[in-house]
Amino acid sequence: MRLVRFVAQNRPAYGILDNDEVVELDGEGYASMSSRRVVHRAAEVRLLAPCVPTKIVAVGLNYRDHANELGMDVPESPVLFLKPPTTVIGPGDDIRYPAMSRQVDYEGELGIVIRDRVSRVAPGEARKHILGYTCANDVTARDLQKQDGQWTRAKGFDTFCPVGPWIETNLDPGDLAIETYLNGERRQSSRTSQFVFTIDRLVSFISQVMTLEPGDLIITGTPSGIGPMRPGDNVEVRIEGIGSLVNKVK
Ligand code: MG
Repeated sequence: MRLVRFVAQNRPAYGILDNDEVVELDGEGYASMSSRRVVHRAAEVRLLAPCVPTKIVAVGLNYRDHANELGMDVPESPVLFLKPPTTVIGPGDDIRYPAMSRQVDYEGELGIVIRDRVSRVAPGEARKHILGYTCANDVTARDLQKQDGQWTRAKGFDTFCPVGPWIETNLDPGDLAIETYLNGERRQSSRTSQFVFTIDRLVSFISQVMTLEPGDLIITGTPSGIGPMRPGDNVEVRIEGIGSLVNKVK
């Protein structure tokens, strides 16, 4: 099932995308799957980022090939950082190139969307608290990341977290192809089976630190092949079984 947030008739709403139709859901969020029976033609709605996170928890160095690319050792436990919710943009929205930076990179990543409030969950119970999976781009001002020595500014500019186009709920995330294209050219290509830390372990580990809320987003690290974007570029994150997230740099 594909869960979407969208605008129809100038009003944001939640829904289920079913081929060329969107069935609108009652209430705020995806908790009530009882439909309102208002059906929109998919071509007539504009998709938004499919979740409204209270926080975005990002994982550094979760693919062995990316750790090698940076000349860093694979960490013994997940390295976490946060992106502010104001980084989120939806499919088709523009990534704004900040004046402070001279190198803005794409990082294609698998996104996990949390279903319900969860704290200190065991790895074996983690899946119950996952609503589904989406595509994300952990946009990074690489020069500022190096300059600052920590990542808040480099990862935190408005528009630096494109997410979407929807949340896929029926998916085994264990071995999915993940690719990033810049202006149609493939720049990243790996599989989620290359993860250093599994999804169950990541959700469990993060929930030992902070309570996760419905709609919170975990972005699970990027494979090798990171590289810079320029204004005017088109960037696409494509994940097997989910779909394709396309944004332009302005
Ligand atoms: Mg990243």
